[in-house]
Amino acid sequence: MIYIEFTERQKHIIELVKAKQPITSENLAEHLHMTRAALRPDLTILTMLGVLDARPKVGYFYLGKTSKNIIVEFMKSIRVADIKSMPVVVSEDTAVYDAIVTLFLEDVGTLYVQNKGALVGVVSRKDIIKTAIGNTDIHKVPIGVIMTRMPNIVYAIDNESVLEAAGKIMIHEIDSLPVVEPYKAESGKELYKITGKISKTNITRFLFNLSKE
Ligand code: ADP
Repeated sequence: MIYIEFTERQKHIIELVKAKQPITSENLAEHLHMTRAALRPDLTILTMLGVLDARPKVGYFYLGKTSKNIIVEFMKSIRVADIKSMPVVVSEDTAVYDAIVTLFLEDVGTLYVQNKGALVGVVSRKDIIKTAIGNTDIHKVPIGVIMTRMPNIVYAIDNESVLEAAGKIMIHEIDSLPVVEPYKAESGKELYKITGKISKTNITRFLFNLSKE
């Protein structure tokens, strides 16, 4: 749980600490016409959030972390694994026509392509449209021919922050990242097992849900 919106009393405490630091909890309680016990929960929250710093026998200092910093730090603490969704995965020999049907049935914009359990490519709506407006038999051509393939796939891993993943989506101007778990093939080559998907939709949903908490 994170308190981004401070209560009036918390704002008052912050202003007092800024003006009179270092200030003891006794002095703060006096200024606020409260008991120290009643003040304690707010001081604990503000210290935990890093807005205030408590030094024993000295008092409270203002640490200067703003709500914006707190939001950014919170975003950094959320891992891709916390919000990833189920990926839609197909094989390289799937015909473009079947890929289109899958996009509709699964209600997604991107398909991930795997071969023997390893990520080999990504097919998006534009890849398919490009193929469909050309002189291609979409019933015969497999998506392996039109997909963006490894090693050009931008991916995320479970332990990465959502903020980092959002950065990759922005920089590469793409809609989603496959979430992968790297492993070594018998040949020693590094391969990637697809374990999820992180998309603009995931991130938007996560932000929206935060406002409801
Ligand atoms: P759309 O086609 O709906 O605009 P994207 O913006 O995600 O979807 O895709 C644009 C291009 O980027 C396509 O050629 C697609 O194959 C490629 N692409 C999509 N996701 C990735 C990814 N994670 N890594 C590398 N290329 C990708």
